[in-house]
Amino acid sequence: TIAAFDLKRMFDAIAVAMEADRDRLCQLDGVIGDADHGIAMALGFNTVRDALASLDLAAAEPTALLNTAAKSFLNAVGASCGPLYATAFMRAAAAVRGKATLADADFVALLQAMAQGIKDRGKAETGEKTMVDAWQPAAEAAGASNAAGKNLAESLQAAFAAAERGAESTKDMIAAKGRSSRLGERSLGHIDPGAASAVTVIGAMRDSLA
Ligand code: ADP
Ligand code: MG
Ligand code: MG
Repeated sequence: TIAAFDLKRMFDAIAVAMEADRDRLCQLDGVIGDADHGIAMALGFNTVRDALASLDLAAAEPTALLNTAAKSFLNAVGASCGPLYATAFMRAAAAVRGKATLADADFVALLQAMAQGIKDRGKAETGEKTMVDAWQPAAEAAGASNAAGKNLAESLQAAFAAAERGAESTKDMIAAKGRSSRLGERSLGHIDPGAASAVTVIGAMRDSLA
C-alpha cells in the first residue's frame, strides 16, 4: 500500500526527472509553442517538492498532500500546464478522500482521476495533439491492467508504455487545442511537448512506486 510518505517520494522523483528533462521539453515546445514547457514543468514540480517538504507527513493524509501539490503547482506556474496539472492533482485528492493509505486499485483510480481532470480542465479529447493523448491511454492501460489482476508496478509499466505510444502518435496529429493550434498543419511531424512531459511524469511515478 501507498502512504503519504510514498506520495512525497513520488513527487520528489517527478521533480528530479523534470529537472533532467527540462531542456528537451523546452526544445520540443520551441518547435510548435513558446519554448517554456520544460521551465514551467520543472518549476511546478520543484515548488511542489518544497511545499511537501514542510508538510507534517506523519499527520498528513494522501488527500491533504495532493491538495497541497495542486495549490503549489497552480501558484507557481503561469503556463497552460499550471491549471491542467493543478486540476489533475485536485481530482486525485478527491479520488482518495478519507483513505490513510492507498491500495493498488486506489492508485489506479487516482491516475484515472488525473487524466479525467486534465480532459475536463482543457476541454480536450484524444487526437487533438495535447497531453491528453498520453494521459488518456495511460489511464486506460492502468485500469485494464488492474482489472486483469496485475500489481501496481505492472499497471504503472503498462501506463508508461501506453503514454509513450500516445506521445509518439501526436507527431501525426494537427494541434486543435492550446498555443500550437495556431500553427494548423505546420504542427504536423512534431511531438507535443505536454504529451512528452506526461511520459516523464508517469515514468517517475512508476520508478518511485515500483
Ligand atoms: P503554454 O502554451 O501556455 O506555454 P505549456 O508550454 O506549459 O503552456 O504547455 C503546453 C502544453 O499544454 C501543450 O503541449 C499541450 O500538451 C498542453 N495543452 C495546451 N492546451 C491544452 C488543453 N486545452 N487541454 C489539454 N492540454 C493542453
Ligand atoms: Mg509553452
Ligand atoms: Mg508559455
